[in-house]
Amino acid sequence: MNYDQNNIFAKIIRGEIPSNKVYEDEKVLAFHDISRSAPTHVLVIPKGQYLDFLDFTSNASAEEISYFFKKVNQIAKLLEADKSGFRIISNTGSDAHQTVAHFHVHILAGKKLGALLSIE
Ligand code: 5GP
Repeated sequence: MNYDQNNIFAKIIRGEIPSNKVYEDEKVLAFHDISRSAPTHVLVIPKGQYLDFLDFTSNASAEEISYFFKKVNQIAKLLEADKSGFRIISNTGSDAHQTVAHFHVHILAGKKLGALLSIE
């Protein structure tokens, strides 16, 4: 699959679609998910054009990967999600129900999130 320049997160990065931003710099953007699955539900994305977790961790430089995940760490703390815990998720591909083909990490926090998904 090729990267689609018109996916919704590419439009958010370009400012063509508004977002409720939590953090932004030249490489990373974090914003509230439009459809919350927890009291705190923030998406963190690199500004580089990567389809998913596999594409990012296969093709981004070690510096980009390190920078991104250190920002996820800082943003979790900015959200005070480190106080009582949080979950990070990166849905990859159709079985995981990835709906936007621009690599992103969900930060979920603010309530007891329950156990991981069952095998059913
Ligand atoms: P995925 O299902 O690909 O892991 O996550 C995509 C996420 O993007 C979903 O949780 C969805 O609610 C969120 N989303 C989709 N469109 C928009 C949008 O226009 N603005 C924001 N803030 N979030 C969006």
